[in-house]
Amino acid sequence: MKIVTHSPQETVKAAEKLGSLLKAGDMIAYKGGLGAGKTTFTRGLAIGMGLGDSVTSPTFALVNEYRGKSMTLYHFDMYRISSEEDLESTGFYDYPFEDNVAAVEWSENIAEFLPKDTIYITINSIGENDREIIIEDGGRFAAAWD
Ligand code: ADP
Ligand code: MG
Repeated sequence: MKIVTHSPQETVKAAEKLGSLLKAGDMIAYKGGLGAGKTTFTRGLAIGMGLGDSVTSPTFALVNEYRGKSMTLYHFDMYRISSEEDLESTGFYDYPFEDNVAAVEWSENIAEFLPKDTIYITINSIGENDREIIIEDGGRFAAAWD
């Protein structure tokens, strides 16, 4: 599935739609460089999940948590993670992912530790305010998107 957006607001809207479709156990892994729009997209996911619009970059915290009634969104930034040891030190393996949703920036750094059914989202900057967003979801959301 490929979407093109022309403003941060459009990216938030697209992400909101995806957020409303997510289920416990979903893992979102972003690919895309600095300023692509990963944190912006995550803000939309949180809104779509009913968790409010307060998402900010977890760069220094490594993970931010947005708690809902039934699910928490774990928003990771793996920019500084370069080994399995680093990853373990974040406590990554101890999170209850099966009951919640996770969104991981710089997922390239932990590629081999992501589950098989991870939803990959690639964000490419194709202009100052234009972004190409590719969602690899194994066809799961195609019907909802038309
Ligand atoms: P990342 O988390 O990938 O580093 P951010 O979401 O923090 O990226 O920042 C994206 C930047 O790009 C923001 O300053 C945002 O305003 C800007 N931007 C411009 N156009 C778009 C768009 N279409 N979608 C998302 N962000 C956009
Ligand atoms: Mg970010």
